[in-house]
Amino acid sequence: MGATLRSMFEQTAAKYPNKEGLVDLRLGTRWTFQEWDVEVNRLANALKTSGVGKGDKVSTILFNTAEFATALFACTKLGAVFNPINFRLTSKEIEFILKDADPKVVLFEKAVADRMEPLVSVLSDVELWSIDEHDLAYAVHYYDQLRDAPIVRPSCDLDETDPYAIMYTSGTTGLPKGVVHSHRDMVDQSLIMTACLQLNPEDRGLTTAPIFHCAELHCAFFPRVMIGSTNVLLHHFDAPSVIETIKQEQITTLFAAPTMWNMMLQEDFSQEDFQTLRKGLYGGAPMAPALTLRLHEAIGVQLLQAYGMTEMGPAITALMEDEQVSKAGSAGRALLNHEIRVVRTNEHGPSEPAAICKPGERGEIIVRGPSMMEEYYNRPEATEEALYKGWYHTGDIGSLDDEGYLWVSDRVKDMIISGGENIYSREVEDTLFEHPLVLDAAVIGEPDEIWGERVVAFIVKQDDSLNEQTLDEFCTSSNRLARYKRPRRYEFVDELPRNASGKLQKFKLRETFNLVSE
Ligand code: ATP
Ligand code: MG
Repeated sequence: MGATLRSMFEQTAAKYPNKEGLVDLRLGTRWTFQEWDVEVNRLANALKTSGVGKGDKVSTILFNTAEFATALFACTKLGAVFNPINFRLTSKEIEFILKDADPKVVLFEKAVADRMEPLVSVLSDVELWSIDEHDLAYAVHYYDQLRDAPIVRPSCDLDETDPYAIMYTSGTTGLPKGVVHSHRDMVDQSLIMTACLQLNPEDRGLTTAPIFHCAELHCAFFPRVMIGSTNVLLHHFDAPSVIETIKQEQITTLFAAPTMWNMMLQEDFSQEDFQTLRKGLYGGAPMAPALTLRLHEAIGVQLLQAYGMTEMGPAITALMEDEQVSKAGSAGRALLNHEIRVVRTNEHGPSEPAAICKPGERGEIIVRGPSMMEEYYNRPEATEEALYKGWYHTGDIGSLDDEGYLWVSDRVKDMIISGGENIYSREVEDTLFEHPLVLDAAVIGEPDEIWGERVVAFIVKQDDSLNEQTLDEFCTSSNRLARYKRPRRYEFVDELPRNASGKLQKFKLRETFNLVSE
């Protein structure tokens, strides 16, 4: 038996039946936990009528909506496997995931309809449910399906080791992989994050980062359900609306990716707008220390950082509020029951434990912990490689200091090698962010006949007074950056390619500028 997401949800509903559990600002719905539970039962019974049972998959391509939050727990009531898909993907990318995950039902919304239509002919045996459009020839309407569904709790034999979801990785370094997590993984992750954020039932959390991604769903949304605090859903991230909603909804906790915090920073606001906010969490991508400091000063709220990846549930470390300045740039220390090692990378495959790096020495970060994935769905070889000897090999480079703080330098695939020297793109980006007129920065390697690769920087600037020469002087002055690390070329752009959860898509920069580094 053991605790499952279903028992977690139902216990909260029993404990706080009349407390506001879920607010969907788009629909204007405000459900108590009990009302939410009833809606979950209704949907579970409707899905059952469509033939969904234990082990079947249900996919969603939804923004931050009550339908998402309901479908997720409806799956737990049937022992079905939930498969949330990024709503920003192209039709081809959605097709790849749907063919891989092989769901029985797909829930999608209007914004995705034109990308779903071309898939109808290639997806046989899948029922398509549209949550907001009535007149689609190829889909049934979600609320029509619910109309006659009973609200009794479906019975189901569910174990903590049963899969809860297949979550696809962001596809930053290749094709996305389906990560299978069990109920136990998620209960563990929720407990750890509830403690880390010191959540209490009076908290009101805002979901503004995409809920389909594990950073929002597992580090923020689930912990709030576990403790019985309110989840307020903003359909999608939009900096002015977030600031407005924090005030209007008296929000006390919030997760946002570094780029989202950066966008908020560029809005007109006063510290009063953030007065109710008690805990701000960031993670999912590196945040330049200069940006963290700017944020602290501007909003007057101390933030926490989490580092992790879909495969680990995701969070494995946290940098707490009071460590943000003294350990600026670090990802913090291991969360409860998590272990981290840094090992020397080896061309011939994963390193042996004998190759553990000394404090301060860089290598590949490997980790293990209670919420580690079960497997990559349908990919036994990739699973074996990633979970070599029971440690997840992250593909990130970093070091541990002698106090156990982790410093993430780069992804292995993004590191630049110039004249035989390793250059970590993040170090160059962090330096560029120190310039007050740099709004966003990305660094990649481009082929160079003499040096192998050289550094090129893509910059979003605040105004035209910033040019290549001022940035070059800035990087080399005051020993900010060794000469070999400084960008040899700058491209000024209006924005940088990022995915829905705010991750830099460096492969797109390489494609757009025709820079093939491998
Ligand atoms: P794919 O595995 O398909 O290439 P992805 O690795 O981007 O995609 P995710 O699991 O969403 O998919 O992202 C995990 C990665 O994000 C980590 O391996 C790390 O590179 C980066 N990351 C997450 N949190 C942080 C953080 N706090 N600081 C620096 N990097 C981070
Ligand atoms: Mg990854």
